[in-house]
Amino acid sequence: MSAHAGDFDVAIVGASIAGCTAARLFALRGARVALIERQPALDAYKTVCTHFIQSSATPTIEKLGLAPLLDARGAVHNSIDMWTRYSGWVGLSDGEAPYGYSITRRTLDPILRKLAADTPGVELMAGQTAVGLVGNGRPVGVRIEDRARTQREVSSRLVVAADGRDSKLARLAPVPGRVKPHGRFFYFAYWRGLRPFTTRSRVWLLDPDCAYTFPMEDDLTVALVAPHRDRLPEFRSDLHGSYRRMLSSLPDAPRLGTASLESKLLGKLELPNVFRRAARPGLAFVGDAAMSADPVWGVGCGWALQSADWLVEETADALGGGSELDAALERYQRVHRRRLLPHYLMTSDFASGRPINPLEGRLFRAVARDTVLRRAFEQVGSRRRSPARLLDPRVLVRLTARKTDALSDRRRSAAAA
Ligand SMILES: Cc1cc2nc3c(=O)[nH]c(=O)nc-3n(C[C@H](O)[C@H](O)[C@H](O)COP(=O)(O)OP(=O)(O)OC[C@H]3O[C@@H](n4cnc5c(N)ncnc54)[C@H](O)[C@@H]3O)c2cc1C
Repeated sequence: MSAHAGDFDVAIVGASIAGCTAARLFALRGARVALIERQPALDAYKTVCTHFIQSSATPTIEKLGLAPLLDARGAVHNSIDMWTRYSGWVGLSDGEAPYGYSITRRTLDPILRKLAADTPGVELMAGQTAVGLVGNGRPVGVRIEDRARTQREVSSRLVVAADGRDSKLARLAPVPGRVKPHGRFFYFAYWRGLRPFTTRSRVWLLDPDCAYTFPMEDDLTVALVAPHRDRLPEFRSDLHGSYRRMLSSLPDAPRLGTASLESKLLGKLELPNVFRRAARPGLAFVGDAAMSADPVWGVGCGWALQSADWLVEETADALGGGSELDAALERYQRVHRRRLLPHYLMTSDFASGRPINPLEGRLFRAVARDTVLRRAFEQVGSRRRSPARLLDPRVLVRLTARKTDALSDRRRSAAAA
């Protein structure tokens, strides 16, 4: 795995969640890593994010040694309740399921970047933008450019694209993504002192609109609304008023009156869902660069951590290069697809803005009544299990049993009438 002077085993483009995770985990396995980031400031952070990290990513957070650092900064050990008109509120109590982390990106990103940069073997190249891939066909490095527009090449056996949703490396390679349009738009802001006080996150599936509140460190709560696209003209005519009215009209709405607004209103109008092949010879994609999913489910940060972890697990021992490395990349691509494609298909279908269908309505009703179904639903929602979990015969039997009970209840009442 040793590299020639100036060469690296791995060149990672993007020093955000996915890139820093990959850099640290590769270096802990003995690799020499170039971590290339266009932002010059070490404490730069992503602003368009609501940073609920699912419990599926907790093992990676622990493996990184990040958990105690987040705890020391007051990260919330998260849990979630969901409201639909079919179910009312559903959720597991604190302690009934593993927790994830809720912590603002303003706090998280600098901590994770410093952790990665301080790992022996990682060379952080901040203020450097990747502008090209080196090599014909199979990449053998990255061309980078500094703020004075001076270019140089960084050579490596493996190039990792961790450059986010509009991945430049995917365009350069080119590795096009499968795109599904999004039927909602997003506005959110930060509040302090939102009452009633809770550390539990809440999501409202209003059919077709959505909303959520995610409590974070320092009594901050990020409150987001995601109306259907049809409502964009109405929203735009009075942005702040529409945002406040929608939040205040939610069932069991948080009280805005006594809370202070701690940020401007942030918006994101276009968020297509994108899935691409996560590797080809010499090149891997992690995080949003591999798959950009619907934010309504609070999933992208967790998957950025996890996909970087899967990549390192599959390829770290094969960084000698050549066919062994490409076989390892192919394994990573298959793990990524197996773990994430079913979730992607489910979330991007819902992201179209279509109404909740009768089957989902029945599922939500049953989840509200049945603890076993509620646990299965939580495992899928927290992304620890595949959506296939809901097709497990033991789960299906309970859904059908409930349906039969409901039918016979109706028949009994009809007979009695
Ligand atoms: C409105 C909204 C709300 C969200 N809420 C949540 C949530 O609650 N929970 C959740 O899990 N996810 C959420 N997400 C998704 C989450 O923000 C992303 O999934 C996550 O940031 C992906 O991390 P990443 O490291 O892959 O990419 P990014 O965080 O986008 O980082 C990419 C990095 O690459 C750098 N870069 C890009 N191009 C280059 C280049 N050419 N050269 C050098 N550097 C480059 C960038 O500067 C950046 O640092 C939300 C997204 C949106 C839009």
